[in-house]
Amino acid sequence: MTENVSPTIATVCSHTSLQIFDGARKEGFRTLGICLGAPPKFYDAFPGAKPDEFFSVASYQEIIEKSPELIEKNVIIIPHGSFVEYLGASNFARLDIPSFGNKRVLEWESDRTMEREWLTSAGIPMPVEYNSPDEIDRPVIVKYHGAKGGRGFFIAKNRAEFEEQIDDTQEYAIQEFVLGSRYYLHFFYSPLRDGGYRVGDGTLELHGIDRRVEANIDELYKIGASSGIDPSFVVTGNLPLVLRESLLPKVFELGERVVARSIELFGGMTGPFCLETICTDTLEFKVFEVSARIVAGTNLFISGSPYSDLIEPRLSTGKRIAQEIKLAIEMGRLGDVVS
Ligand code: ATP
Repeated sequence: MTENVSPTIATVCSHTSLQIFDGARKEGFRTLGICLGAPPKFYDAFPGAKPDEFFSVASYQEIIEKSPELIEKNVIIIPHGSFVEYLGASNFARLDIPSFGNKRVLEWESDRTMEREWLTSAGIPMPVEYNSPDEIDRPVIVKYHGAKGGRGFFIAKNRAEFEEQIDDTQEYAIQEFVLGSRYYLHFFYSPLRDGGYRVGDGTLELHGIDRRVEANIDELYKIGASSGIDPSFVVTGNLPLVLRESLLPKVFELGERVVARSIELFGGMTGPFCLETICTDTLEFKVFEVSARIVAGTNLFISGSPYSDLIEPRLSTGKRIAQEIKLAIEMGRLGDVVS
């Protein structure tokens, strides 16, 4: 990729694409939307976020075959949750097209065991995980491997309830069910910027906080605990949140530890990442997942959040990604933020 020609910012037309295109355009980049088949009509409804160019593929796998064409167009791809999911983490990791962020994070994030090793070795409190149902001594949540959006997960208060519900033809993990308030913390780590909250040689930013709205667990209380209906955890949307201000030091400590350990383990995370947490009634955070890219909850804050506004008015994560690429080009350090 040539640093003297301004790259085009590209992503798959889904998930956080509106915000990514809007932010890229505001920073002066051309934009390209990768779509399945014909360009989606809904972009016509949002002129500010409609990409300058569409690139149609018959299947997501075709992105791999057509990567020379995308490289020729001098694109930088912005990975988001759907992009990596549709293509498959291992295919994405092998993609030749320059991509924002450190691709090495994928192997640590997409494997539950490695993710746990990363976070716990960073000193991050996580829900207890049980090796066998015999060890269940408190309410647990059972997670099937590769389940999308929490589909099929179930809660068991004891061993008997576990046996009643388990489908042991699938691989699963048994995790302590942590009762508390969920906060999805949207961080951004810049290895380039000076000032701010320092971690390593870079800056850690908090751009916003959301909570995922999940059907039907969120509303189950309305028909009573004895309804007999099994809870499901299917994400349908996102709500904005702010934290008690006195909890912010703890939140930054979590972000700092995760980044510092990522630098030691695999050269560091660059750009947006999200810690999915539960804050208990003793005001302790447990982290049940890390997403090492832009998450859908940031869509709430396309015009800024109560946190990002204090970095720069109306700053979205999409815009911040474009700023980081621009800064890297100016500094001649594109290789530090693109892999
Ligand atoms: P994604 O990959 O989209 O983040 P997933 O399918 O891996 O989702 P999780 O995010 O791990 O699933 O969990 C789905 C939901 O289950 C969470 O949003 C939360 O409501 C609940 N949950 C997960 N782990 C726990 C836990 N240890 N205690 C209580 N609730 C939990």
